Formats: sequence, C-alpha cells, structure tokens
Amino acid sequence: MHSIPDITFVGGGITALLSARLFAIAGANVTIIEKSRIGQESSWAGGGILLPLYPWRQKDAISQLTIPSIQAYPELAQTLHESTGIDPEYTVSGLLMTELADLDKARDWCAKYAIDGCTANPAQQKIFPQCKGRSLYLKDIAQVRNPRLLKSIKQDLLQRGVKIVENCSINKIQISHNRITSIASAAENFSVNHVVIAAGAWTGDLCRQLFAQTKQVQADIFPVKGQMLILDAAENTLDTIVLEDDRYLIPRRDGKILCGSTVEYTDFDKSTSEQAKQSLVDFARKLFPALESAPIIHHWAGLRPGTQLGIPFIDKHPEISNLAINAGHFRNGFAMGPAAAQLLYEIITNQPTSIDAGLYQFSASH
Ligand SMILES: Cc1cc2nc3c(=O)[nH]c(=O)nc-3n(C[C@H](O)[C@H](O)[C@H](O)COP(=O)(O)OP(=O)(O)OC[C@H]3O[C@@H](n4cnc5c(N)ncnc54)[C@H](O)[C@@H]3O)c2cc1C
Repeated sequence: MHSIPDITFVGGGITALLSARLFAIAGANVTIIEKSRIGQESSWAGGGILLPLYPWRQKDAISQLTIPSIQAYPELAQTLHESTGIDPEYTVSGLLMTELADLDKARDWCAKYAIDGCTANPAQQKIFPQCKGRSLYLKDIAQVRNPRLLKSIKQDLLQRGVKIVENCSINKIQISHNRITSIASAAENFSVNHVVIAAGAWTGDLCRQLFAQTKQVQADIFPVKGQMLILDAAENTLDTIVLEDDRYLIPRRDGKILCGSTVEYTDFDKSTSEQAKQSLVDFARKLFPALESAPIIHHWAGLRPGTQLGIPFIDKHPEISNLAINAGHFRNGFAMGPAAAQLLYEIITNQPTSIDAGLYQFSASH
C-alpha cells in the first residue's frame, strides 16, 4: 500500500488539473488554488496539438513524456466526456509537415516510437504542392480543443469533491522543520499537508518570492509569449493539422481554423500586436489559399512556461519534505500533460516511476 497524501496545488492550468485528478481518483483530499479562473492562462491559449513540433529536434526527455501521454488521451477524453457531458473534442486529425530538411531524422524518430509516418497523399499534394519532395504525414496524431478539455476536467474534479479556490493568488508560505505548514494569499490562509506548485510561467518568480528567506527552489522557468488567431471557415475546409516552418494550421471540428504561433521573450506582457496578427494571417493564406477571404474571429496571446530546453521540472524539493513542482512544460503542456501528471503522482507516493524521473529533477538540464 502506498500512502496518498492530502494535497494542495498552486495554479489551475492543465498541469495542475491533470495531476489533481490522479490524486482525487486515489482518494486524497485535493485543493486547487488559482490566482484568477481555472484554465484561463497558457492552457486556454494553446493549440492543443498532441505532439511537439518536430520532436526529433528536441531532447528525448520531451518524447519520453509525450508518447505515454498521447496513448492516454483517447481513454481520458472519452471518460471525461462520459462523466461530465462536456466533449473535449479529442480528434485524430493527423499532422502533415509539408517540407522537412531532416526527413531522415524524422523517420528514425517515428520508427523509434512506433509512430506511423508516410509521405503526403495525392489529395494533400494537390492542396499543398510543396509536399511533393520531403513531406511527412503522421495520420494518428490528434488534437484537443483546450477550453473544452479544461472545462470538462474542472467539472470532473468538482464531481470528485476537489475543492477549487479561484481568484486567490498565493504569495506567502510558512515553513517549520523543513515542512510547509501553511500557504497564504493576501486574504486567506490555508493549512496544508502536501503542496505542489504548478503555476506555469509564474512558477520561477513565485518560487523566488515564496522561498526568498528559506530554501531556494532552483527552477528556471520564464514566460514565453505566443500569439495565435482563429479564422472562420466552413466545416471540412481542411481536415488535417498542417505544419510548415514552425507555424501551423489546426482545423477544429466546426471548421474554424487556428493559426499559430509566435515565440516572443517579452516577460509577463500578454498584449497582442498588429504585426504578429498580419504575419500569422499572411502565413495562413499563403499556405492555404482557401483562407483568402476567411475572416479573423479572434486574436490572442498566452504565456508559455518556458525552460531553456523545453524540459519541465517534475520533482520533490530536496529539503522541504512536503513540496513538489510540476511546471515548465513550455510548448508541450498538453502533449506531455498526462504522463507528467503520472510521474508526479508516482514520485509523491514513493512508487517506482514509469519513466526515468532523473530527466526532470532540479539537478538535470532543462
Ligand atoms: C499560443 C500557444 C500555443 C500552444 N500550443 C500548444 C500545443 O499545440 N500543444 C501543447 O501541448 N502545448 C501548447 N502550448 C503550451 C501549453 O499551452 C502549455 O505548456 C500549458 O498550458 C502549460 O500549462 P500549465 O498548467 O503549466 O500553465 P498555465 O495554464 O499557465 O497555468 C498556470 C496557472 O497558475 C496560476 N498561477 C500563477 N501564479 C499563481 C499564484 N501565485 N497563485 C495561484 N495561482 C497562480 C495562473 O493563473 C495559471 O492559471 C501552447 C501555448 C501557447 C501560448
């Protein structure tokens, strides 16, 4: 028997929600404290593609979390849909990369992780003529619709008795004998048993603030702005995710098409710019001329929790015995989320881990 501690999460994005769900299923008393509303930050802003962009160009630690996550999604989405009535719109739309200079590396990565990859089919080549040379189509890659997935997990957690505290920004911590005894906002104080900080892009600053007088948490996590827009289009205008030169189109089930995204190192500034909007819409219309007159419905920005290599921190604090972190998922919080949550759960409950936990420790390269 492993003991399941009662647990408090600081932050209410996809990372905390997926992690909290595992503890709730195991029977723990779970509390989530969120400074604004659940799932309104990076997790709301993202595209929901369940694969890193060009994963073979990234550290293997990212694939190690991605592969079990993408295997977990079909059942997760179905269970959430059934339990809450909210459909996360898990959709196997496939992912087409039009031209790859490193196609051989991509094929090796597919073979290593048993991901089915082939060249673009004739219909795709007709729409995207640049595909003829070095394209790669991954037919099994899926997407979720972020706001719907977040809503359904929140509802599922409420049904499981998880306490959700919104509009509450944690800014203080009490430590006694190497244990956190309470955490607090300006207005409220919470006694805690176990604490997980999953505060996305704010995690680095928050840890520096909370632990200024005590044991520092060495988690170099910083905000990286991404701007994105959504175009109005009729159903079935496009049926696959298309990726070219680090930018992409994601067709949703209702026909609307997301276009993303910028990568900007601008601190905690979430403003959008005309220049980014124009560059995204130019990309969308050049890649897929059927969007020539498609109106832009919405344009927004979110703050990704950046790390130098895109590898998250999933670890217990070496000295504070009841503190752990699950943060820094950068561009892949959805693609890595379920396995990251599972790893955190195994670490906190002192179980053997299903993947190499060392890759995500404070002492590892991130
Ligand atoms: C434009 C864009 C496109 C993306 N596309 C994809 C994609 O296609 N696929 C993919 O896998 N990933 C994608 N991502 C990345 C993904 O969205 C993130 O990795 C993921 O959302 C991170 O989740 P999180 O829960 O760690 O952070 P967040 O969702 O930011 O949640 C952290 C939460 O902590 C709260 N918080 C902060 N400080 C405090 C405090 N002091 N007290 C209480 N609460 C606090 C915040 O308010 C926030 O709600 C994209 C991101 C962006 C911006």
